[in-house]
Amino acid sequence: MAPIAYLECTKCGAHLPADHPQTVCSKDGGILYVRYNLAHLKQNFKRQALQTGPATMWRYAEVLPDVVPVSLGEGFTPLLPSREFPGVYVKDEGLNPTGSFKARGMSAAVSMAKAYGLKKLAAPSAGNAGSALAAYAAAAGLEAHIFMPRDVPLANRVECATYGARVTLVDGLISDCARMVAERHDKEGWFDVSSLREPFRVEGKKTMGYEVAEQLNWTMPQGIIYPTGGGVGLIGMWKAFEEMEALGWIRPERPKMICVQSSGCAPIVKAWDEGKSSSEFCPDASTLAAGLRVPRAYGDYLILDILKKSHGLALSVTDAEIMNGLRHWGRVEGLFAAPEGAASLVAYRKLRARGVFTPEDKVVLFNTGSGLKYLEVIDGEKDRPQTPASRQIGGIIGPY
Ligand SMILES: [Zn+2]
Repeated sequence: MAPIAYLECTKCGAHLPADHPQTVCSKDGGILYVRYNLAHLKQNFKRQALQTGPATMWRYAEVLPDVVPVSLGEGFTPLLPSREFPGVYVKDEGLNPTGSFKARGMSAAVSMAKAYGLKKLAAPSAGNAGSALAAYAAAAGLEAHIFMPRDVPLANRVECATYGARVTLVDGLISDCARMVAERHDKEGWFDVSSLREPFRVEGKKTMGYEVAEQLNWTMPQGIIYPTGGGVGLIGMWKAFEEMEALGWIRPERPKMICVQSSGCAPIVKAWDEGKSSSEFCPDASTLAAGLRVPRAYGDYLILDILKKSHGLALSVTDAEIMNGLRHWGRVEGLFAAPEGAASLVAYRKLRARGVFTPEDKVVLFNTGSGLKYLEVIDGEKDRPQTPASRQIGGIIGPY
């Protein structure tokens, strides 16, 4: 495993030590990236050696922190060739522990938290991040304190309780939950593992980029379509591509990174369309894809920069299109996707129609979770969960 060389601020470039828990840059609030001695690794490790590794994200231990993993078998999910579109693949993250891609980030963050000797972890969550934190904290023997809106999907609430987490249901939005964690973490002795407020969830999520490369025999697709709430996976994958290029594992080529959001909450799309380098808080955020209901991503400046550098773009799709896409995937591919994941199918069709992708292009669509986590939404028997009125607390809302 790789010793951490230092943590680097993505805004000012400051170097911070990783010998104790860090959050964000104290000067400018910049997100911290974990840096390793890749030149040394390039000399001493070849990608062929990965083949003997475990079928989990920890097969990439050489580019992950030097820590005893708290693992439930996360990662190395299948890259399924589409039955409908030759050259298109679905990266099915629904097969992770706790049924979503959040397992990767939490496996890394909780492993580090345990190594640092932290005892109590806290996070606000719109659903799947809470489930993942609860599971990994249980596996690590740590306390998890999770704040979720009262209308969170039932599966997430039941899961968190089953994993023994301390769950607080909040009459409000994710932004209200985030505020409660922020106000109380010092007094309660909680470490805040909200994504991008500590450096290691990105490290877990970046393994999606390593897997796409390995599963495509160390080539890059022409495009990656990523349902973007907080965008940690998109940020992580781009970091992975940079690392792999530095290691000589891939050629200096990159997929177009495509961010898809719901039209009910599309702050990145708005910023992209306006040519801005950061986004604005989206008021009255509303979509049935709970994971896309992030009014402002803390990593917005990184996401927008990656879209630009990769010659990608951001686009929105409606909830009705998402639900049609979800049912279509079920019938045609045998895939029971999360609504967020189905948004990538809708985006792909639109981009094909616009000529952004041709039938010859290899494109990876991310299904971020299992449809089993959203039964009440998909079944449609229950009314769509009511979105409580936003209290407009302002501030930047992290990705959950
Ligand atoms: Zn900084």
